[in-house]
Formats: sequence, structure tokens, C-alpha cells
Amino acid sequence: MIPIRFRRSVKLCLLSTLTACSVRVMPAGVPTLPDSAIIRGHIEYLASDRLEGRGTGTAGNDSAAAYIARRFRELQLIAPFPGYFQRFEARGAQDAHLGRTTPRATQNVVGLLRGRDPILRDQYIVVGAHFDHLGRAPESSLDPGARDAIRNGADDNASGTAAVLELARLLASHPLRRSVLFVTFSGEELGLLGSQFFVDNPPVALDRVVAMLNFDMVGRLKDDKLFVYGTATATELVAILDSANAAGQPQFKVTGGGDGFGSSDHSSFYAKGLPVLHFFTDLHEDYHRATDDPDKVNAAGAARVVGLALRTIREIGNRDSRLTFVRASAPRQVSGTRQGSDTYLGSIPDMSASSEGLRLTGVRPDSPADKGGLKAGDVIVEFGGKAVKDLFSYSDALYSHKPGDTVKIAVLREGQRMDLTVTLGRRGQ
Ligand SMILES: [Zn+2]
Repeated sequence: MIPIRFRRSVKLCLLSTLTACSVRVMPAGVPTLPDSAIIRGHIEYLASDRLEGRGTGTAGNDSAAAYIARRFRELQLIAPFPGYFQRFEARGAQDAHLGRTTPRATQNVVGLLRGRDPILRDQYIVVGAHFDHLGRAPESSLDPGARDAIRNGADDNASGTAAVLELARLLASHPLRRSVLFVTFSGEELGLLGSQFFVDNPPVALDRVVAMLNFDMVGRLKDDKLFVYGTATATELVAILDSANAAGQPQFKVTGGGDGFGSSDHSSFYAKGLPVLHFFTDLHEDYHRATDDPDKVNAAGAARVVGLALRTIREIGNRDSRLTFVRASAPRQVSGTRQGSDTYLGSIPDMSASSEGLRLTGVRPDSPADKGGLKAGDVIVEFGGKAVKDLFSYSDALYSHKPGDTVKIAVLREGQRMDLTVTLGRRGQ
């Protein structure tokens, strides 16, 4: 998940029928069930000190990427990019704010499992997780006092990366009718940079992607409590998830719902008009701290999340028709603790560094931003008479207002300046 500071900025400021596996005789040794020992092994490697917290643009992050690519090769997944690496330069708003001008060279890791239906194989499910974490950087952590201690990010997000690798192993042995793209993202902690690059430079046309499932922090299952966000992004998702949950024992107590704008990579896909789900086992006291270590991970719980996700993916991947996308207007469900201003605009910022202003990747339906005429792609350059240079100056401008205030917002739309008037709302209303 992206840093609390950003999460606050984003959240506050801006703002089955189960298809049974086809009955056929499996050769011995073909995996059918999630294996918690394999999941634990992935987490122990990815969150070991030798990878130094997998900070984007570091050697430890590259080692994690190489490890993931090796797993994809062993499973004989197709490489849509050379060596499975989709290379890009990460330029984060926070880096720019801190005066770091050199971009970080990094890569997403992408593997393709071809579907078995001659027609439906041209449709794709994206199964994703970010594999980067904070490295040793105190500035994005919640324990700056620990200075340059390694933040291993065992739950955030070695756990989600391990879930994607385990889903790849299980699905590779029983391909679905549709194809599956397994994508592990870099640059997430800097502002969803890897997923934004992926949706802007996809290996297949995005209108062939039927859904994106995101695994961010699935390693701390407690009391069977699981959050699944984004269930309002397609009409069929609640029923599919309910059936998938009913087919497992013990069942999860699932909460969540909401639209697909959240503080992780699924947001980048939802902004492009795709159904999304985000699986999440909740925040905890080690979140973004040097104490998020492998020994605290519940690998058996992560295996159960993989089981639920596997049943969900099988249904989405094998059903005759595509999911029906919904531009949900439900208020986003939020979890965990947060505080601060509750002034609300409802716009979704692009968190990469910008040369001027704050670009929006989306606008929540029926939000103050939507009613005031803001649109995806607009670049906010002025808010209530204050110049907006980036996410940070934007936050300052927003927080100087109260819910109910009417403000003038200047945007650049296709290069033209437009002045809009917006009445700010209150978060949660
Ligand atoms: Zn995080």
C-alpha cells in the first residue's frame, strides 16, 4: 500500500456459480491446492535482509524482480517483454518534492498464461501485486526514528507477491478458457507508478482485459476477517465472491465493497474503466515500519486467501460472458485508522511527478469534483486562488478549506485553461 502520507493525501484530499474444474484425470504431482509452505518460502526470500526492503531502483528490488521472473520461466509462462521485464523510469511526486531529480530505473515483471478456449483466449484477467517496498527510506516510513533500518515489507507486499506466484503455479497446471496476465508492479510505494505505467503501456489492448485482481497485504489474516474492495465495479462480482467464499472451509467474514479507487494498484485499472478487486487482510501496528517481518506473517491465512481468489479467478476466467463494468457511485469503503481534515473533493490524482499542476486520473461519480465539472485528464493548476504545483501544494490548498466552501478551481484541459466552481463536500457523505 502506498505511504500513509499519500493515502491521506489521496483519500482525504482528493478528493457462481463456481465452474468446477473440468473433470479430467490429473497426472500425479499436478498442484490443485494452495501450499502455505511455498507461500512462506517466497515471503522469507523477498522479505529477507539481503533484499534490503526492495526499494524501487535498488539492487534488492532488481533481485526480487529476477526471482519472480525465474518462477515465471519455470512455469513456462509466455514473456510479453524480454526476460518478463517491463522496464520503466519511476519519477515519483515525493521524489520530486524531496529534490531527487534522477529517475529510478526499474521494472514490472509480467508473465502470460494462454487460455485454452480458441476465442476467449483473446480476453485477459490481470492478477497483480506490487513487489517493491520502502527499502531503507525513513521518509516514507511510519518509524522515521528507526532511521535507515531495512523495512522488509513482509506483509506489504511480499505477501501479495507470493499470492500471485502461487496463483500462477496453480493456474498454470489447469489453464482457464481466458488468458491470465500475472503482473508484479514496482514503484507502488512511490505512488502506483508501476501500475500506471502498465495501463499506459499495456502488452494487450486494455479493452481485452476483463478484470484486475490486486493482492496488497494479504499476510495478516486474523479471525477469518478479509476485506475485498471493488465489488461494486461489476454487477456479477458480489455473487461470484459469495459463491467462492461458500465453497471454502472455514468461510471468511468478508467486508469491503465500494468502488475501485483505493490506495493500491487496482486504482490504476479502475481509472481505465475495468472491473477490479482488492484483497486485503487489514492494517496492523507493523505497517510501514521496520518490524513488518516474515515471522509475523500468517502463511496459512495467505494460502486461504489464494484459495478464495483461485475460485474467483476460475469463475471469471471460465464463464461464457464478460463481467459487466459499473462506474460505481458508492462511497469508497475505507479501513484502518486515519485522521485529518474531512474536506472532500472526490478527484483521483496521478501520483507521478508532473511538470506543472496536478493531473487527475479520475473523478468519483456524484462527488463535488464531478458535479463541478472536473474530468479525468484535467490538470489542476489553481485551487481557491492558490497555485497548485503538485500533490503537496494541492493538499495544502484543499485543507485550508472546510466542507461546504465554494472554491474556484482552474484546470488545464487539452492545454486550455478553464475556471470551474466547486462546492466542497464532507468525506463520507
Ligand atoms: Zn505500502
